[in-house]
Amino acid sequence: MLMSDWIVKNTRLRKRPFSFAGYEFQRQIVDDMHPNMSVIKCSQIGLTEIQIRKFLAFLARNVGVSAIFTLPDDAMYKRVSQTRVKPLVESEAVFNMQTSEKPIRSMALYQINQSFGYFTGNKEGDATSINADALFHDEVDLSDQEMLALFQSRLQGSDYRITQGFSTPTYEGFGVDAGFKVSDQHEYMCRCTKCGHHNIPAFTPDFVTIPGLSGDINDLSEIDAEIASHLDLGAAYVRCENCGARLELHEPSLREWVPRYPGRRQRGYRVTPFATPRLTVEYIVDQLLQYKQRDALRRWYNTVLGEP
Ligand SMILES: [Zn+2]
Repeated sequence: MLMSDWIVKNTRLRKRPFSFAGYEFQRQIVDDMHPNMSVIKCSQIGLTEIQIRKFLAFLARNVGVSAIFTLPDDAMYKRVSQTRVKPLVESEAVFNMQTSEKPIRSMALYQINQSFGYFTGNKEGDATSINADALFHDEVDLSDQEMLALFQSRLQGSDYRITQGFSTPTYEGFGVDAGFKVSDQHEYMCRCTKCGHHNIPAFTPDFVTIPGLSGDINDLSEIDAEIASHLDLGAAYVRCENCGARLELHEPSLREWVPRYPGRRQRGYRVTPFATPRLTVEYIVDQLLQYKQRDALRRWYNTVLGEP
């Protein structure tokens, strides 16, 4: 059974079976147990939630394995452990199948049946003392890079030796962007129903139509509050760069992960806001205006667009 199907079958979100509806791009990322994987993410696309479920599923589906989940610091790991991991582990029967006594559970350690999952704020002690079959690094770019390298030594005794890093990008050629650049670079395409062209939709004038926007604007980040007040953002849409027809981003059968360099040994995925139909042009422009107001345009690129 694929990891994504297993998660749907065995876990719930807000008391309903977990679903990938509207977020179908997550399936392949969940199913991919590649030993060396880098995923560039943007905000509001649910990847941390997905990673936690994949991490716990790996522990539950393999007998007697260990895995380490790192976050950049103690405050972050404690928050994730308490608010996301603990409720999930406690509420799903599939994570509580141990036949003997009470499982060992704390903020930093979850026994899942015969396996162990460690959560850490990327600390030296953990990087040199726990042996693991898999390392999941969340927010790679905010983490101490030397420490991340040190964690590699923890995989030496394992048959799996899996390292998967996920992050909002920051600087070009640093952290998750560096990992993605040397990878096979999967992009989430959308096929045009009119001309058949395969698009990698981006927030640029080649793809984005906003009624009322002047054709003189070559860089959409130039939109400010004054310009936005003349735009019909509710009617904005994403179009085919080849023929101009509206792209049906919500139609999973038109969408597909395609690697730019299929022969490369490292795996990479880039998740952008148009990977899901839930994030609209209007949302991206609203965020742009807010980040501009706070004089934080760089962060808008990193977190909203997922660009370094
Ligand atoms: Zn087209």
